[in-house]
Amino acid sequence: MPWEPIDKRPDADAVAPNLDDYDRVRASFEWEDARAALGLAPGGPVNIAHAAVDRHVNAGRGDRLALRWLGRAGEVRDFTYADLARESARFARLLTDLGVRRGDVVFSLLGRVPELYLAVLGTLKMGAVYSPLFSAFGPEPVRSRMEIGGARVLVTTRTFYERKVAPWRDALPGLEHVLLTDAEGDPPPGTRDLHALLADTPADVETAETGAEDLALLHFTSGTTGKPKGAMHVHEAVVAHHATGRFALDLHEGDIFWCTADPGWVTGTSYGIVSPLTVGCTMIVDQAEFDAERWYATLQDQKVTVWYTAPTAIRMLMKIGGELPARFDLSRLRFLASVGEPLNPEAVVWSNRVFGRPFHDNWWQTETGGIMIANYASATVKPGSMGRPLPGIEAAVVERRDDGTVALLDTPMAVGELALKRGWPSMFRGYLNQQARYEKAFAGIWYLTEDLVQRDGDGYFWFVGRADDMIKSAGHLIGPFEVESALMEHEAVAEAGVIGVPDERMGEAVKAFVALKPGFEDTETLRRDLLAHARKRLGPAVAPREIAVRPGLPKTRSGKIMRRLLKARELGLPEGDTSTLEENGR
Ligand code: AMP
Repeated sequence: MPWEPIDKRPDADAVAPNLDDYDRVRASFEWEDARAALGLAPGGPVNIAHAAVDRHVNAGRGDRLALRWLGRAGEVRDFTYADLARESARFARLLTDLGVRRGDVVFSLLGRVPELYLAVLGTLKMGAVYSPLFSAFGPEPVRSRMEIGGARVLVTTRTFYERKVAPWRDALPGLEHVLLTDAEGDPPPGTRDLHALLADTPADVETAETGAEDLALLHFTSGTTGKPKGAMHVHEAVVAHHATGRFALDLHEGDIFWCTADPGWVTGTSYGIVSPLTVGCTMIVDQAEFDAERWYATLQDQKVTVWYTAPTAIRMLMKIGGELPARFDLSRLRFLASVGEPLNPEAVVWSNRVFGRPFHDNWWQTETGGIMIANYASATVKPGSMGRPLPGIEAAVVERRDDGTVALLDTPMAVGELALKRGWPSMFRGYLNQQARYEKAFAGIWYLTEDLVQRDGDGYFWFVGRADDMIKSAGHLIGPFEVESALMEHEAVAEAGVIGVPDERMGEAVKAFVALKPGFEDTETLRRDLLAHARKRLGPAVAPREIAVRPGLPKTRSGKIMRRLLKARELGLPEGDTSTLEENGR
């Protein structure tokens, strides 16, 4: 192994880690105990908003600071747990008054604004289902997700509404209410002013007594084929949000926690909202986008103790160097964690040198609802490894067999697919209206993650790559099919194939290959036009960065574009026989 393991320094002032001895805690852990830690009775009601907010208020902790919001222009807004409880109850009452019922789906299309946090908690509080949309999505990804989710309510801003929803609104008659956070008394037709409505609404809703298996969150993820998939999560997921936040992020009551993930993705909900609140932390929310100096100032000024961020941001910080952070007092930082894409071992070593603490990589995905594999505060960190499975989680390296079963690969460092034994509380309960796709994700007791990994002799997992064609760019999971479909809408495109190519900053960048229809010529202008078309339809986070025109694209016997072959050719790798894999849709 090229990188030396990093052992934890005995730290005089350190807070005792929640997981103090990996083997011992794992051996004795029961999900039942984790339920009891949240005060949940077996078979009794579970509501995420109750566990996150009301529980603290009922226990006399209402005056603790729950959320500090830092506005782009320097504004600060503080919310105590009591404030969140009251304002989310007002939002819940508003939904009820609007005729929203339990199980209806409320979408948000917002940046990091205070209203988003009230909308999430208020929606859960009244028993409706919350689904976040990434605000950098263009109209197409917004539309497909809202259609699949059967949106009844959308909370958004005027600009997002006008650009990304209004043009196709008529196609979704079930979307009854569009609530604007910035209507300022003058909502455009078909929308309403959220603040004006809230001003006339009492904060007097009782939290719904939802059951453990009641649907709570709908998180969309992309597929390599077909439409996006709505991963369904239930109220009981909060048990895992709580336990994994304590173990993998070492969250303690009173911690000042900064999760930089965008609230439009699953990390921004599970760990950007739910987990830290259940533990009784103060969450820092910064409205602004990445800016190295601002980030270090935030860590210093807000006295952040636990910081959860992502490799793309860490790589940008590394590029700027160690002199900038040396100008700030970062002595409060106790625990640093990273997720979403492979974390380069260099970044772990760098952070250990610059901050005196390594980044702790951890792994999970939309379907798992919470962290599954992690490096822990009390354990040796092996730079480049995602760590070991959480207590309560059994992970294996497997190989799929033709008969639909899997073989376990026990030899250390054997490459295989990461599989997780089904049954943890935050496991997705289905893809909305796509039962067959859900069933395909399991082989008996094993959930198959589509990630290739190795496990070493000490039980640490190492990420190898995706088993499918999904692209991870700046931490965002992008389905090639969605990008190809948008390109195919262009009059000049006959065929499109989309792959991820290595990118120093973003991990991977989206690259498209197209074949043109007769009568169209490969010119610089046409390629620019195609890129602009994709950007307009998909938004900047999903659209290709680069486009190449080819006379024809490689296809399987059944006519499917062979993305693997495009990628092998692009990267100069041996082409091998990828046809069978492609035929099997893997
Ligand atoms: P998403 O469902 O959008 O959260 O994306 C999940 C995918 O991101 C995983 O299946 C992995 O491919 C990738 N991923 C997440 N965390 C890590 C990590 N620590 N190392 C490598 N890849 C990761």
